[in-house]
Amino acid sequence: MTFDPREAIPVDNVGQEYAHVTATPCACGGCWRVTGQALLLHEGRYYDRLEVVCTRCGETGVFLFDIDAFFRARA
Ligand SMILES: [Zn+2]
Repeated sequence: MTFDPREAIPVDNVGQEYAHVTATPCACGGCWRVTGQALLLHEGRYYDRLEVVCTRCGETGVFLFDIDAFFRARA
């Protein structure tokens, strides 16, 4: 699995992560279901990686979020 921090979406809280996943449906129009979550530390910044599967067609995907701003504030 490749990791490209330039593709990470900056968010201020976990709710925004799920809102983005909901607002970006599968190409078939189906909804994503989150199947995995991982906290990543890359070059001093924190990222949250969500693995998803489409509930309609079974396609899988990955969303990458830049959570450095709020993760540090919480820590
Ligand atoms: Zn689908």
